[in-house]
Amino acid sequence: MDINNKVIVITGAARGLGYAMAEHLAEKGAKIALVDIDFDSVDHAASTITDAKGYACNVTNEADVEQLFQQIKADFSRIDGLVNNAGILKDGLLIKYKDGEMRKMSLEQFQSVIDVNLSGVFLCGREAASHMVQSDKGGVIVNISSISRAGNFGQTNYSAAKAGVVAMTTAWAQELARFNIRTGAIAPGFIATEMTAQMPQKAYDQAAQMSPLKRMGTPQEIAQAVSFIFENDFISGRVIEVDGGTRI
Ligand code: NAP
Repeated sequence: MDINNKVIVITGAARGLGYAMAEHLAEKGAKIALVDIDFDSVDHAASTITDAKGYACNVTNEADVEQLFQQIKADFSRIDGLVNNAGILKDGLLIKYKDGEMRKMSLEQFQSVIDVNLSGVFLCGREAASHMVQSDKGGVIVNISSISRAGNFGQTNYSAAKAGVVAMTTAWAQELARFNIRTGAIAPGFIATEMTAQMPQKAYDQAAQMSPLKRMGTPQEIAQAVSFIFENDFISGRVIEVDGGTRI
């Protein structure tokens, strides 16, 4: 796909990886619909990018997501691409047993991460695909997974969601190819954003050292991988690991 003049929706775009993707794709001439949960921050982010507009939406709310994509179609006349990037972390152990006391990960802690990181991807992917099929111009959907999809200590909820994201990427590649819609996923390693800045300093330093390159990745390096999937017309249904060689 030639990105120039294409309309690309990016969720979780007020900051971090999503914002870097918006900047990078806009530099290549795309018109960007930035989506995030807080209107003021997404509106401010959009104001710093040419040909961009900010939309407030909680990606877990079905009616709001349907309305969001209708609004973006009305504002930009078309939807060519989607990056499902919005995500949250709520790490914790499945069970914690110490001094005879058992503490369990609550269903709420599990479900809230599944809601944003998996169901949100499903809802936005479904709505984007519906509009792309109706306009009969094809499109590209990129889902942001994680190296944690392999299963990571303290991340039952996050790992399950990120593995599901890759499975949906494969299923959609098979189902949507007949409509000229491609899919791709990216599994970032540890990237320097506000999400990883929440980590305790010791864990942050250890995470950086897990890569043979001995550093965190940058949001721009993930944005480059996103545009690679958009631009290479023979990529579909695959996950690209952008992790500096980190293994967990
Ligand atoms: P971030 O800095 O926390 O940004 C995520 C954005 O998504 C925030 O602006 C957040 O808004 C928004 N968001 C959260 N819940 C939402 C919802 N229900 N609806 C709409 N927007 C919502 O995260 P990031 O580091 O850029 O990560 C982006 C993606 O990459 C995530 O899917 C993450 O899992 C994945 N990833 C990141 C790393 C990394 O090292 N950073 C590694 C692997 C994968 P609020 O903050 O206002 O809630």
